[in-house]
Amino acid sequence: MSEHAFATRAIHAGQAPDPTTGAIIPPIYQSSTHVQDGIGGFRDGYEYNRAGNPTRSSLETQLAALEGGVDALSFASGLAAEDALLRGILKPGDHVLLGNDVYGGTYRLLTRVLAPWGIETTTVELSDIDVLRAAIRPETRIVWLETPSNPLLKIVDIALIAEVAHAAGALVVVDNTFASPALQQPLGLGADLVVHSTTKYLGGHSDVLGGAVVFGDDRFVEQVKFQQFAVGAVSAPLDAWLTTRGIKTLAVRMHQHSENAQAIAEWAASRPEFAQVYYPGLAAHPGHAVAGRQMIGFGGMLSLGLAAGADAARAFAESTELFQLAESLGGVESLIGYPPEMTHASVRGTELAVPENVVRLSVGIEDVADLIADLEQGLARIAR
Ligand SMILES: *Cc1c(COP(=O)(O)O)cnc(C)c1O
Repeated sequence: MSEHAFATRAIHAGQAPDPTTGAIIPPIYQSSTHVQDGIGGFRDGYEYNRAGNPTRSSLETQLAALEGGVDALSFASGLAAEDALLRGILKPGDHVLLGNDVYGGTYRLLTRVLAPWGIETTTVELSDIDVLRAAIRPETRIVWLETPSNPLLKIVDIALIAEVAHAAGALVVVDNTFASPALQQPLGLGADLVVHSTTKYLGGHSDVLGGAVVFGDDRFVEQVKFQQFAVGAVSAPLDAWLTTRGIKTLAVRMHQHSENAQAIAEWAASRPEFAQVYYPGLAAHPGHAVAGRQMIGFGGMLSLGLAAGADAARAFAESTELFQLAESLGGVESLIGYPPEMTHASVRGTELAVPENVVRLSVGIEDVADLIADLEQGLARIAR
């Protein structure tokens, strides 16, 4: 598969037709266990669903192929994947350096679930490489980053961070949920591991929760696989199948998400109601050049700072019709959210807090003129 282009791999990797019936789509193996040909005689290695399921395997093959990894593991949610990765690799006394605007749930997992077990976490501004250099300690095991970040769409240079982290003996983990592998492949830029909330762009249709760990080499595969098996936060067969189905259209979807978001960002930049437009596709964005180097497109997420402040931002988030008020992102339908009280409520008042005048858009793949008209009527409504 690796000789094929991305869009081809997304459709064919792990998707061989069913050998017995020729069904072009591999079936959903909705089965908890597998018959053994004599004790220990596992067919194709399958034994019990927590250890392995053919539908999950087919998704895992597909995920590894998308990111250019040697292997991938699929989980019940993005946070379950992160948890398995962290507990599979870290031991008490280890230190994690976390980008200072990563997903709030990652911060919560590290500081409230794993901290009592001896994992120390500090947050750091990763766009300043000297700050990173100064923050790395001998016990720093992982540098964890997101780019573009959530919700302020900050861009960090993956290759540069990998160089600095590796020189200090630390691993680099990239949460690639926002870009998706269609736009950015961190393993090729020097990252050691990639995590995903497949709930977002990979699934792509807001109908299934899931997560993944993708491995750049085989150093940690067994350790994380053991966590998956021993703890059991696996993706269910139907969920894995839905994610697989979503992934097949990832390349075209990401192209359209990016095109729509770019048009909306340019429109927003021309409107006085917005004091800030956070979108890496704009030339004025501080991360524009780096994003242009490490990404194929700028993605479907953008955030807007309302000039009139927090109350205007809250009202605007409640004023749109096509952009529906909801958490999450990455589906074909457009969503709007008010991070301080929704996705980022758990970091309000901490060092990861989001400015109070910001709304976040997950730009869908509807007709972009309709989307802009919706935002315009929202502005008109809050001006009244
Ligand atoms: C949603 C999200 C997660 C968590 O994934 P779940 O599937 O909700 O557990 C992690 N990282 C990012 C960037 C996300 O957007």
